[in-house]
Amino acid sequence: MITDRLQRPLGSLRVSVTDRCNLRCRYCMPEQEYVWLPKQSILTFEEIARLVGIFTSLGVGKVRLTGGEPLLRHDLASLTAMLARIAGIRDLAMTTNGLLLARQAEPLRHAGLGRITVSLDTLRPTRMQDLARSDRHADVLAGIAAARAAGFPLKLNTVVMRGVNEDELVDLIEFGRAHDAEVRFIEYMDVGGATGWSAAQVFSQREILEVLSARYGPITPVATGDSSAPAERFRLPDGATFGIVASTTAPFCRSCDRSRLTADGTWLLCLYAERGIDLREPLRSGASDAELAELIASTWRGRTDRGAEERLGVAQRAPLYQVDGLRADPHREMHTRGG
Ligand code: SAM
Ligand code: SF4
Ligand code: SF4
Repeated sequence: MITDRLQRPLGSLRVSVTDRCNLRCRYCMPEQEYVWLPKQSILTFEEIARLVGIFTSLGVGKVRLTGGEPLLRHDLASLTAMLARIAGIRDLAMTTNGLLLARQAEPLRHAGLGRITVSLDTLRPTRMQDLARSDRHADVLAGIAAARAAGFPLKLNTVVMRGVNEDELVDLIEFGRAHDAEVRFIEYMDVGGATGWSAAQVFSQREILEVLSARYGPITPVATGDSSAPAERFRLPDGATFGIVASTTAPFCRSCDRSRLTADGTWLLCLYAERGIDLREPLRSGASDAELAELIASTWRGRTDRGAEERLGVAQRAPLYQVDGLRADPHREMHTRGG
């Protein structure tokens, strides 16, 4: 097992398959214009599968497809099938906004995708217009229904923002219960791309628990058995469970085994890392699997990243980058890194 300088294993990889998106969530893509990764830099399915194979040979067992919006990548089921054949992967998942899921759920299940997380910030179509500049709320609900029908274990991700959707926590728990999907409430993070972020809009884990316990009664923590899981899980008195990802007020960097591969083959050791490691260049200039594995392993052994914990120490916390900084290097964008 390869571990970094803080003894954290190289355990999970998030693979962003495109930086494009069909939503404009205000906590992720609030701007009118974006600089996109050049087309010729985007890894082919074969290149992605080769890199993922090398990562799994080094101990990665969990792989999550993400984006941008992963379902915008043409024929994602083919890539899924290629990844599903890699022996070392024990958990193959996807995070999606769900807009295009209704048609793709069944082929993805058939291709070997194991589970799906759908981002669902509101149950109100008009609110989605304001929050994500889209009137396609019904398509998300259809996507969730199709994923259930195809037999996927489902989770729902909700970024909670004060003054935007903190009044829907109970409704979302009930929606999750009705659809057999565990809800995970995510604190609004000051990641690259969140140019409108302010501390005042963060609705914290503590506040989320206050709202839910006022409605349901005493909430108890659930032992997860997976110390690297980003979400803390909780149980309501009636037995329903939910998660909270408290990356902003109570980060969990000490157990972080995650890294991220962007659609153009840039490998990021932390969500907050200023820059990544270019794996595309050696990949395309003929490096062997052993050489790529050595590059990845030696880089991971030197890792000390604790981005979210370091942000806690920043006085007068403000957005990580202004628009100019993001345009100068779109790899800094959450929608490029994959969340
Ligand atoms: N487009 C897909 C989706 O939204 O599910 C996958 C990519 S998206 C970048 C992955 C996750 O990042 C989503 O669940 C989204 O809610 C989360 N995210 C994006 N910006 C965020 C922010 N500023 N704070 C917290 N979570 C954020
Ligand atoms: Fe929203 Fe995901 Fe698109 Fe970001 S990448 S704008 S979170 S749907
Ligand atoms: Fe891991 Fe970086 Fe997130 Fe901390 S901020 S949990 S080190 S990715």
